[in-house]
Amino acid sequence: MTLKIGFVGLGNMGGPMARNLVAAGFEVRVFDLLPALVESVAGARGAPTAAACATGVDLLISMLPAGRHVEGLYLGADGVLASADPGTLLVDCSTIDPASARKVAAAAAERGFEMLDAPVSGGTGGAEAGTLTFIVGGSAGALARARPALEAMGRNIFHAGANGAGQIAKICNNMLLAILMSGTAEALALGVRNGLDPTTLSEIMKQSSGGNWALNVYNPYPGVMPTAPASRGYAGGFMVELMNKDLGLAIATAEQSGSAVPMGALARNLYRMHEHTHEAGRFDFSSIQWLYDPALKARD
Ligand code: NAD
Repeated sequence: MTLKIGFVGLGNMGGPMARNLVAAGFEVRVFDLLPALVESVAGARGAPTAAACATGVDLLISMLPAGRHVEGLYLGADGVLASADPGTLLVDCSTIDPASARKVAAAAAERGFEMLDAPVSGGTGGAEAGTLTFIVGGSAGALARARPALEAMGRNIFHAGANGAGQIAKICNNMLLAILMSGTAEALALGVRNGLDPTTLSEIMKQSSGGNWALNVYNPYPGVMPTAPASRGYAGGFMVELMNKDLGLAIATAEQSGSAVPMGALARNLYRMHEHTHEAGRFDFSSIQWLYDPALKARD
């Protein structure tokens, strides 16, 4: 029997994810606050409200901006928990603070629903290509039920642990990514300022102990890697404002758990400074290179 799926939140990520579910043959019902986005998912049935979208489906997926939107969708008086049929599996793919994820999952459990937090990495390109990575928190049984739908939207599925663990793993990864990217930009700027060619230096560091993901696939220096956002004016990719959102979640999570994150805090401040100094919010996050070499901004 075809799985019936409700999908709420059809923005840059949710729209293409819902389209991949339709393409995989699922019966899909969709809702967004913006009616034009509801129309944009050909082959899916539009629902007039979130509650209607969550009724009569086996699985309800949400892809919303932040924790307050997720709490509003699930916990509101006419929200998902008040409307969904018993047994509906709930999967929130938004990147939100772990405390909100656990709060909503606990409220769901109280009403007899199973819920997963399943934030993604892979960006809008991954959403369109159906190659996202899902980082899942919740029970193994619930993940097994959700797996066919997740496989239609992604390539890698990791089970991080209990509810909230998906959000924590995603936050840890993105904090490390910000640290690696700013460190890589700093090393490249130092080399270039001292007469080295950025491509030669990148090749040396890639094969040496400084090698990392930024050097391997996402070099922040223009012209080193033709496929990287740095070589096309830092357009597309993963925007600075989204990195700042994730770094904010990392700092809040560190505060709540009494964790010291000195490198993460520095990366957070560098990215904030970069966003304001260069009006870089909507540029790719590798544009942090501008902070070390402002002349590159003028060149782009
Ligand atoms: P977006 O702003 O493009 O889309 C969010 C959509 O949710 C909007 O269309 C909005 O109208 C809708 N919405 C908000 N509240 C709603 C409600 N109560 N009911 C119905 N619809 C509602 O955001 P996005 O880029 O698609 O990101 C979604 C989530 O994915 C965020 O948590 C983001 O951090 C995460 N994420 C984004 C990327 C990326 O590259 N864009 C990558 C990984 C993770």
